[in-house]
Amino acid sequence: MTQKCIREIPLARPDITDLERKHVNNVLGSSQLSVGSYVENFEGLFAKYIGVAHAVAVNSGTSALHLIVRSLGIEKGDKVITTPFSFIASSNCILYERATPVFVDIDLTTYNMDLDKVERRITKKTKAILGVDIFGYPMDWSRLTAIAQKHNVRLIDDACEALGASLKGKMIGAWADASAFAFYPNKQITTGEGGMITTNNTEIADLCRSMRNQGRNIDGGWLLYERLGYNYRLDEMSSALGFAQLKRVEEILGKRQRVADRYTYKLSGVDGIVTPPVMTGGTRSWWGYAILIEDRHRIRRELSRRGISTRDYFPSIHLQPIYNRKRGSFPCTEYISDRALALPFYSDLTDEEVDYVVENLKEVL
Ligand SMILES: *Cc1c(COP(=O)(O)O)cnc(C)c1O
Repeated sequence: MTQKCIREIPLARPDITDLERKHVNNVLGSSQLSVGSYVENFEGLFAKYIGVAHAVAVNSGTSALHLIVRSLGIEKGDKVITTPFSFIASSNCILYERATPVFVDIDLTTYNMDLDKVERRITKKTKAILGVDIFGYPMDWSRLTAIAQKHNVRLIDDACEALGASLKGKMIGAWADASAFAFYPNKQITTGEGGMITTNNTEIADLCRSMRNQGRNIDGGWLLYERLGYNYRLDEMSSALGFAQLKRVEEILGKRQRVADRYTYKLSGVDGIVTPPVMTGGTRSWWGYAILIEDRHRIRRELSRRGISTRDYFPSIHLQPIYNRKRGSFPCTEYISDRALALPFYSDLTDEEVDYVVENLKEVL
């Protein structure tokens, strides 16, 4: 007989209420399952929340990144500066267009791209800088904006982990030429699969709207294809879910903040554990809660035996087979990648469950 675990605590779990059920049911009760009013309402509410002129909904965060790269005209021969400490999609979107990702190592306190190292990697071929607000900790977009203006390069924000974060009173998603958000079930808000592009640039928004819909002309002309496009549309069920989630965003972010605060309170001062960085000059958002720890694989195994799910977030992108760079190329990224352990994290995680995770973590240390 296998021993029964005291409890099972997953790594992530969406926060779904009757409000979400009501809106998704509205769609199911209608005959408009795609290209309807929910996608427009979701986009409208999202643009207002971020404080930008345009929000364009798509079927994943990866699609959002791809359309941004295309709408900026990034192509073969162009270079895009980015971080090797991220989810793989933030550099794959550069490869989709046969451009070259130029990796810059991260800062050991924020785990974001080290801005002291960015400027000296800019050359004539650099078309854009693609920053990632890792785990929801904003990059210094104010300084990045100055760098981009000085060198005449475009800025892309992979804000897929940073919904709700802000810097100097301006929301993340409103800083770069265009920003990407994602709504996979482990993100702050979910649509199942889904993503969003935010921008103040009308030309970028129009191009993205056209390309998500097979390259169709944006004002009608269902059978007129002006450019190469895709089917990256977000359906109405997903849009309704996202709309309801966004109505609850402050509540959800508040709950996540409370869970993060409890972890930090319980883990601070524990020998052998480094808790996530504390934000200054802005508000971070919490996508996940990753600590740094040695001997991670043994700890993961033992926690898993106690019903606690954890994950190594993130493996270094440059060491993945398709990127195939040498170990040692980006020592700070590798240092964090070798030690970062994401603990169970979601809005409905109770104090008791957080305490259970922490007690077990201390025991296995
Ligand atoms: C989640 C995420 C994405 C996009 O993910 P999708 O699964 O395509 O929605 C992109 N970049 C980062 C950093 C992410 O965390």
